[in-house]
Amino acid sequence: MSEMMNVEDLFASKVFTLGKMKERLPKGTYKEVKKVMDQGGDLSKAAAEVVAKAMKDWAVENGATHYTHWFQPLTGITAEKHDAFVTHPDEDGKMIMEFSGKELIKGEPDASSFPSGGLRATFEARGYTTWDITSPAFIKETATGPTLCIPTAFCSYTGEALDKKTPLLRSMEALSKQAIRIVRLFGNTEATKVLPSVGAEQEYFLVDAKKASEREDILFAGRTLFGAPAPKGQEMDDHYFGVIRERVGAFMHDVNIELWKLGVTSKTQHNEAAPAQHEVAPIYESANVAVDHNQLVMETLKRVAGYHGLRCMLHEKPFAGVNGSGKHNNWSITTDNGVNLLEPGQTPNENIQFLLVLACIMKAVDTHADLLRQSAANVGNDLRLGGYEAPPAIISIFLGEQLEDVVYQLVETGKADSLKEGGVLRTGVSTLPDFVKDATDRNRTSPFAFTGNKFEFRSVGSSDSIGSPNTTLNAIVAEAFCEAADRLEAADNFEMAVHDLIKEYMTAHQRIIFNGNGYAPEWVEEAARRGLPNIPSMVESVETLTTAKAIKLFEKFGIFTEAELHSRAEILYETYAKSVNIEALTMIDMANKQIIPSVMRYANLLADTVIKVKEAGADAFVPAENLKAVTAKLTELKKAVDELMNVEKVASGMKQGKEQAFFYREKVVTAMNAVRKPADELEKLVEKDYWPFPTYADLMFEV
Ligand code: ADP
Ligand code: MG
Repeated sequence: MSEMMNVEDLFASKVFTLGKMKERLPKGTYKEVKKVMDQGGDLSKAAAEVVAKAMKDWAVENGATHYTHWFQPLTGITAEKHDAFVTHPDEDGKMIMEFSGKELIKGEPDASSFPSGGLRATFEARGYTTWDITSPAFIKETATGPTLCIPTAFCSYTGEALDKKTPLLRSMEALSKQAIRIVRLFGNTEATKVLPSVGAEQEYFLVDAKKASEREDILFAGRTLFGAPAPKGQEMDDHYFGVIRERVGAFMHDVNIELWKLGVTSKTQHNEAAPAQHEVAPIYESANVAVDHNQLVMETLKRVAGYHGLRCMLHEKPFAGVNGSGKHNNWSITTDNGVNLLEPGQTPNENIQFLLVLACIMKAVDTHADLLRQSAANVGNDLRLGGYEAPPAIISIFLGEQLEDVVYQLVETGKADSLKEGGVLRTGVSTLPDFVKDATDRNRTSPFAFTGNKFEFRSVGSSDSIGSPNTTLNAIVAEAFCEAADRLEAADNFEMAVHDLIKEYMTAHQRIIFNGNGYAPEWVEEAARRGLPNIPSMVESVETLTTAKAIKLFEKFGIFTEAELHSRAEILYETYAKSVNIEALTMIDMANKQIIPSVMRYANLLADTVIKVKEAGADAFVPAENLKAVTAKLTELKKAVDELMNVEKVASGMKQGKEQAFFYREKVVTAMNAVRKPADELEKLVEKDYWPFPTYADLMFEV
C-alpha cells in the first residue's frame, strides 16, 4: 500500500496558479494579468517579461528544462514542440536559463503538417500559437523530464483558427455577451460576464498491454476489428459499480495523483457497464479549462496505464457486442456573481428567468439539432450512437416529468400554476430515513438531458475533444439569447412580452422534448413524424456545418468564418477517409498474414486427422465435418478479403473530399463487415492454440 499522502499539498502543485502568480509577481503585474484574464485585452510587453521570468523560475525550481506551447490542432489531440530554456553561453562558457515574454506569448511552430482544410497553401504555412491566459500553465512530468506547458490557441498567419480552442474561446465570449443582456432584463446589474461550466465524465477500457500489443487492430485502429463475443458479456450487470480489482485500483490511484498535481479535480471513479470498462469524472469548471483538462485526463489515463502494464482504450467502440464509451458533457451557465441560469429553484413554474432560459435552450437545440449532432460526430462514434447502449443519433431534450409538465401547462394556457412534487420515498425500514425524492427520475437514453441544474450532453465520443460540442452549445444558445434579448429590450411591457415569448418559444419547439425510451424503434418513427433530423453517421453530418443556417449563426457571433467552416468540413471528410482506410488495411493485413494462414494450418491438421483416422479403420465423421465447416468459412473469408482489397484500392485512389468519404462509408465499411463475419465464425471453430491473437475473453476478463 502506498504511503500517506497529503492531497491538499499535492493539488495543483504542478500548476502555475493564480495563487502562485500573486505570490511571485509584483503587485502591479499581478493586477494587470488578472485584469486581462477577467476583461480580455493584451498584456503589456513589460508585464509579459515579468510573468515569463516568474513562470520560468517556478518551472526550473520544479526541475523543468524545457517549455512548450501546448495546443489542440484539428487532429483532435494535443500538440507540443519542446524548447529548452537554454541560451547561448557567455564568453566564460556559462549559460543562463532564459525565457522571454515574447516566447511566452507567441510561438511559431512549423504548422504545415497540421490539418488546415485548404486554409493555408503550403507556401505560406505559417501558424502561430498564442497564450490563452485564462487557462493556467502547468508542468507535465513524463519520461522526457518535467516540461512547462503553456496552453495556447493556434491560428494561421491570416488569423484563421486552426484549432479547437480558438472557436471555443470565441463562443464563450459570444455567449457571455448575450447572456448578460438576459440577466440585465431581470435586474441583475452586478454580473459582468457569464461563463459556461463543464464537467466531462470520461469512460474508457483497460486491457493488458502485452495482450493488446499482440493485436494489430488495437495498435493501429485503437479498437478490435475482429473478435467473436466471449461466452460472457455484460448481461449479468456484475461489472457496473462492482468492486474495483486491485490492478485497476492501483492504476486509478496513480491516475488521481497525477491529475491532482495538474490541478484536475478528479473526483469520481467506478467500473462501468461493460467488462473492463471504467469511468473517471472531475468536478466541473470553466469550459475552456475543462477542455484542456479533459485532454490531460485522456493523456494521463494512457500514460499511467503504461506504467501498470495496461493499455487504456479511449475508442468509442473498442469491442463489438458490449457497451461503447462516451463522454457525458455536463454543461451549465453561471454569472460571475454566482447565479446558475439553469438553477430552477424550488418553484421552477414561477421562476421566469429560468423559464426564459429554458425556452431559449429548447429553441436553440431544436433549431440546430443537426449542428449539435455534428459536434459529437467522429469515426468511432458512428459505431456507438444509435446502438442500444448509447443515446440515439436523433437529438432530443429530456426534461423530466416535473419540468415537462410545466412546459405543457405554459404551452396550453400560458401559465403554469401547479408543480408536480417529487414526494417522499419510503424505504419501508424503520431504521432507514425516508427522503424526499427528486422530482425527476433519470433517463439514460436521452442525448441531451436536464439533470437538476445542468444539461448533460451524452452523445460526445470518449476519444473526442470536448471543444466542438461546447463551442456549438455556446453558439446556438447565444443566438437564442440574442433574439430573445432583441425582442424583450424593445418591449413596452416587459412582463407581458416575456410571458408571450416563453409561450411562443415553448410552443414552437416542444417537438424537441422527448421523455420516453430513446432506444425504442418507435422513437425513430415518431421523431421522423415530428420532423427531427436523424443523421446516422459522421459523413452525413459534415454538411450541416456549411448550410446557410450554420454560416449565418457562426459568422454573426464571430465564431467561425465561412472559410473556416468549409475548411473544417474538408478536414472531417479527410479524417473519415483516412481513418477507415487504416482500419481496412489493418483488416486486410490481419486476415492475409494471420487469420488465413492459421486457419490453413488448422485445416491441415484436420485433413491429416481425417486420413489417419480412416487408415486406422475408424469413423472420421467429426474431423471431416469440422474440416468442411472450416474450409467453407475460409473460402468465404478469402473472397471477402479480396473484395475489400478491391474497394480499398478504388477508395484510396479517389480525390480527397466528400465523395471519397461517402465511398468509404458506403463501400469500404460494408466490405469490412463482410470480412469480419466469416472471420469471427472461424474463431469459434478453430482450436484455441491455432488462433493467431488474443480473443475478447483474453482481453476483457483478465485484467
Ligand atoms: P452523474 O450522477 O450523472 O454522474 P454527477 O453529479 O456525478 O452526475 O456529475 C457529473 C458531472 O457533472 C461532474 O463532472 C460534475 O462536476 C458535473 N456537474 C455537476 N454540476 C454541474 C453544473 N452545474 N454544471 C456543469 N457541470 C456540473
Ligand atoms: Mg452522468
